[in-house]
Amino acid sequence: MILTADGSTAIPAAEIGSAGGRWQNEPMIDLRSDTVSRPSTAMRTAMAEAEVGDDVWGDDPTVAKLEAVTAELLGKEAAMLVPSGTQSNLCALLAHCQRGEEYIVGANAHTYRYEAGGAAVLGSIQPQTVAIQPDGTLDLDEVAAVIKPLDDHFAQARLLCIENTHDGKVLPLSFQQDAAALADKKGLSLHLDGARLWNAAVALEVEPSEVAAPFDSVSVCLSKGLGAPVGSVLVGSAELIRQGRKWRKMLGGGMRQSGILAAAGLYALEHNIARMADDHANAARLAEGLGAFDGVTVQSCNTNMAFVSFDTDPVALTEALAGEGIAILGGPTTRLVTHIDVSADDVETTIEAVGKYLAGS
Ligand SMILES: *Cc1c(COP(=O)(O)O)cnc(C)c1O
Repeated sequence: MILTADGSTAIPAAEIGSAGGRWQNEPMIDLRSDTVSRPSTAMRTAMAEAEVGDDVWGDDPTVAKLEAVTAELLGKEAAMLVPSGTQSNLCALLAHCQRGEEYIVGANAHTYRYEAGGAAVLGSIQPQTVAIQPDGTLDLDEVAAVIKPLDDHFAQARLLCIENTHDGKVLPLSFQQDAAALADKKGLSLHLDGARLWNAAVALEVEPSEVAAPFDSVSVCLSKGLGAPVGSVLVGSAELIRQGRKWRKMLGGGMRQSGILAAAGLYALEHNIARMADDHANAARLAEGLGAFDGVTVQSCNTNMAFVSFDTDPVALTEALAGEGIAILGGPTTRLVTHIDVSADDVETTIEAVGKYLAGS
C-alpha cells in the first residue's frame, strides 16, 4: 500500500489489492513512484557481465567495488550493500543504539513511519518523534527539548535521524550543519536517510559528499531514481560498517553472488545521477501543466515530486488515466513522481490526458 504525503491512503486498500499486478507487461507512463523504474538494457548487460564471488566471504569483487565507489562518492570510510533501504536504516539504527535507548526522528519520516516498526521490534530502540516542518526540516529547539535528562526514569537519546530529500524537498545544507552542531553538543550520533540524497545533490548542484558530510552514517537507495532493480548502500566509519555487517547478517541480508546487483548499482552511479536534473525539470513541467487546469491545485513541487489535488474524484481520475496507460495513485493529495522511465513527452501526454478527462467530466 502506498500512502500520500499527508499520510492518507491514496486508494482504498481493497482497490490496491485488486489493482496489484494490473500493470505487468503493459507499456505505460508510471508516475506512482520512482521505485517503479526498470533496469535498462545497458544496465542489464553490466549485470550479466559482472565478476562475482561469495560476498558473505568477502569474495565478490563487484560488490567490493560498489562499496568503495559509494564510500568515496559520499566521503565516508566504508560502505555496505544491503537489499533495501529499510534494512539499511535498520542496520544503522542497530549499530548506533543499544536496547532501551532512543532515536529522535520526524513523525512522518520513513525510518519511523514506513519501516514496520523494525527498530522497536528488532532493536528494542524507542523512537522519540518530533513534527516535520513544512520545509522538511526538524525544529531543532524541539529536538533539544525532547532529549531527556540523565535519570533512571528516562530512555537515553543516542541518535538523531534526518531525511533528505523529504517529500521531494531538499533540506538546506545549513540546517544539516545546525543539526550536526546540536547532535555534537548533546552527544548524539547523526544518521541521514538519504534514499534520495542524489536528487538533493543534483538540485543543490553540489557533490553528493557535501550533502553527506555532517552525518555519521548515511543510507542511499540505488533502486529509486537511479534505476537499479535492487539495493541500498549504508556508509559510515569503518567501525560502524563493521557492526552494520553483523546486523545485516542477522537480518538475513548477507547475500552471495550479489555482484550481479552491485553491477547495476555501479552502472547507475556512473550514468544516472546527473540526468536526475531532467526528472526535476519534468516534475516542474508536470506541475505547471496540471496547475493550469481549473480544479487542479498544485500544493508543491520539489525535485522529482509534484503534489497536486484535484476537485474531481481522484479515484475516478486514476481509473480513467489507467485506461490511457498512465498510472497514478490519486488521493486527497496525489503525489506524482518523475524518474528515469518518464520522458518529457510522457509528461505532455499526461497533461493532455488529464485535460481531456477534466473537460469531459
Ligand atoms: C524508499 C525509501 C526508503 C527505503 O525503502 P526500501 O523500499 O526499503 O528500499 C527509505 N527512506 C525513504 C525516505 C524512502 O523513500
